[in-house]
Amino acid sequence: MTEISSIPWACYKRLPARSSKISLQEKSSCPFCATEEATEIYRLDDFQFFEDQDGSNRALHRVVMCSLCGTLRCDPWYTPEGQAALFEKAGASYGHCDADERVRWILDNCGSSGRVVEIGCGEGTLLSKLPAGFQCAGIDSDPHLIRQAKERSPDIPFYCRSDLNYPELGQCDLILMFHVLEHLRSPLETLRALRAKVPDEARLVVEVPIVDSAIKYHGPDLTGFFSLAHFTHFSKFSLKRLLRRAGWNIIFQQDMEGYNGRRVIAVKGEVDETLPSRQEIMADIKTAQNYLKARDESLARMRRLIVRFSKESKILIWGAGHHTEHLDRSAGFFQSDCQYLIVDRDPLKKGTRVHGVPVVAPEGVPEELWKNGEEPIVISSYIWRGHIRDDLLRLGVAPERIVSFYD
Ligand SMILES: [Zn+2]
Repeated sequence: MTEISSIPWACYKRLPARSSKISLQEKSSCPFCATEEATEIYRLDDFQFFEDQDGSNRALHRVVMCSLCGTLRCDPWYTPEGQAALFEKAGASYGHCDADERVRWILDNCGSSGRVVEIGCGEGTLLSKLPAGFQCAGIDSDPHLIRQAKERSPDIPFYCRSDLNYPELGQCDLILMFHVLEHLRSPLETLRALRAKVPDEARLVVEVPIVDSAIKYHGPDLTGFFSLAHFTHFSKFSLKRLLRRAGWNIIFQQDMEGYNGRRVIAVKGEVDETLPSRQEIMADIKTAQNYLKARDESLARMRRLIVRFSKESKILIWGAGHHTEHLDRSAGFFQSDCQYLIVDRDPLKKGTRVHGVPVVAPEGVPEELWKNGEEPIVISSYIWRGHIRDDLLRLGVAPERIVSFYD
């Protein structure tokens, strides 16, 4: 094998965890009934969030089921400063959405004009694509995304805030919340505050991932349904319950095709604080258990594949996100006598190190390594795996060097 000297291969060295200068996490209570008592169903200790920071950006990822109502949540959850610090480098790890599909769906289901407010608007892509009949406003807590939204669509008012105090809400016809509720620490309070602010005839569109579709869309994925970025892990029952408790009645619901999303339209109704039936809770427990079983089976398959790497001296990994940390914490992928290099397209990750291994952009790797190297190249992502494979083939990598755990 030709040695290419300029490649910064390095051993994978996990530093001991060190306490952070700020408090990263705190105990949580149920987003539906406020009960603290719960049963642990999933746990990962000492999970590092992206680049090395002397062992201080580590957290406990623990999913629990509320003892009283069965709602799934993370406990502990992040403090506001902990959340800002740990997710600063998340970047492309959040995944992507199809704004065109959402625009078509709104036109089909919510009419072709009106005053629209999108909460969690990101870069404002969806609002910028709505036809001229709509008057739009967008809100997001991420200043970086709001800056991009303002540049993209200077005519639309965008607000960077995490409360609901802005004028457009009082006169809107339609509120959009795509994949927002699961991230919030107090989804019930947010839904209640929203109900108090918007006109009586306003309609609310909510979409969240649900555990009922977890096997279908996250079954084998190591990072999986229990995302570190989601506080509430909804089911179709717990979503409906939470909306009703906040005084929103579902008038339309659908499960999305091709990804894990349950989309509902709700209107103002009576507040219903009824606790779920035993039957509903049991159904949710069963669903979560089945999903975890599917993930465990995938992990066992992955471990069998990983044994094949025991003789390799160098391995290239594509992906510096949570999936790579899962490869260590869940699958035991890394070996002490092997050298690694991580490649990632995300500019936020380039130039960092993950457990001592440098992260470089694809352009930073000599062409020689792609075209003539013999090292295996591991795709460390579930949602982006197809794109990464295409990138590798375009770079001239021989298909037999590419390792995907999922195909
Ligand atoms: Zn509860």
